[in-house]
Amino acid sequence: MKEENVLHVEICQRVDSTWSRETIEETVSTEFKTWKEVSLDIILHGKDFLNNIAIQNHVESIICSSNYIEKGKVKIEGATIKYYIYRLTQEGAATETMNSNSDELSVASHWLLPAQEFHYMWENLYYDCDIKNNLLHFVETTMLFSSLAVNSNIISWNKVVLLHGPPGTGKTSMCKALAQKAVIRMIDRFTHGKFIEINSHSLFSKWFSESGKLVMKLFDEIKSLVQDESALVCILIDEVESLAHARKSCNNGTEPSDSIRVVNALLTQLDQIKRYPNVLILTTSNMTEAIDLAFIDRADIKQYLGYPSEVAIYNIYHSCLKELMRTEILKREEICDISQLKLFGYTEDSNTKNSLKLLELSRVSEGLTGRTLRKIPFLTHALHLSTDKSTLSKFLKAMHSAILKVQQEG
Ligand code: ADP
Repeated sequence: MKEENVLHVEICQRVDSTWSRETIEETVSTEFKTWKEVSLDIILHGKDFLNNIAIQNHVESIICSSNYIEKGKVKIEGATIKYYIYRLTQEGAATETMNSNSDELSVASHWLLPAQEFHYMWENLYYDCDIKNNLLHFVETTMLFSSLAVNSNIISWNKVVLLHGPPGTGKTSMCKALAQKAVIRMIDRFTHGKFIEINSHSLFSKWFSESGKLVMKLFDEIKSLVQDESALVCILIDEVESLAHARKSCNNGTEPSDSIRVVNALLTQLDQIKRYPNVLILTTSNMTEAIDLAFIDRADIKQYLGYPSEVAIYNIYHSCLKELMRTEILKREEICDISQLKLFGYTEDSNTKNSLKLLELSRVSEGLTGRTLRKIPFLTHALHLSTDKSTLSKFLKAMHSAILKVQQEG
């Protein structure tokens, strides 16, 4: 069965634009109607609309996505186009600090969404299958059920997402990207979002006797944020196993029993806060084996994020090389994206030579995490190249040596 052809068009309005959202939508949709098709995930900047000064002056970027792709493109004719218009907040994270004894502890960081810092994060995460779309649909369904007050005694759903897998596989980035994407896609329902990253390490380090109070204080503040129903409040607990650890050490009798009280306090607070219709809880864990925490059992979606596949690696490297060309560290040259390479049947000619070499490097790089892969271009430059602008083929050769070096160092 063919899916409905929906094209999601996310329009980021420039901070200095004085236009209303309606005017932006009207102008962009008029322009779009003159187009036949659009490439996916393509990030169009104001400068891409060379003959439309108005768009250049008012639009920062446009991101398109759809499930209905033919040969890497989406036909505009016949598609249901949904527009989402938003502005990015420019401020970085605010740190919530609390006093414990005479020390100042940073217990959480807080962003207003959509944030400049999280822009393009979603587009730059590459996974196989439909991991990203599934997560987004999950969040959208959660929010729909909450806003329509579906009775949770009849249909049970939670608002907890757990991403687990080895370190460096994009879990924290995915939580941030997912929150940002959800706020943009639900911009009609929520005017903005709040993202709170709880620093469980500082809550649970050596402050057990004080931690209970800190948890209560922190959640008092979160509760006041949640009162604003026009905001989607996303709470991130990174490395949730630190809670499990606190409990386990308590059972071993090596920690004061305060620790179990603190973890329980946190779980109770999370349970309470979850009842608000505008709250979403995102958790990550580096432990790949089953994590038996009362809290984790309640996660509706437990998604494993692992080592990138050859195709995902190609996409990561491709994005890095494009960035090096944009910043003119590399000479600008054509490099195919993976769908173009497929269209060319992976046959070698002058157009595909470098791209096929990159595919070979992607194969060699299997087993490395996303975090390491994103460092390879930097290491390549630092270890093997001079300050002169390099050609792509020279850079790819040097990249191979950098990959081997990283693999040898384990
Ligand atoms: P984790 O929380 O799993 O330790 P992070 O979210 O901190 O991982 O990711 C570390 C870096 O690696 C980030 O810059 C992220 O963009 C990059 N990264 C990890 N996995 C991927 C992936 N699948 N695609 C693109 N980038 C990735």
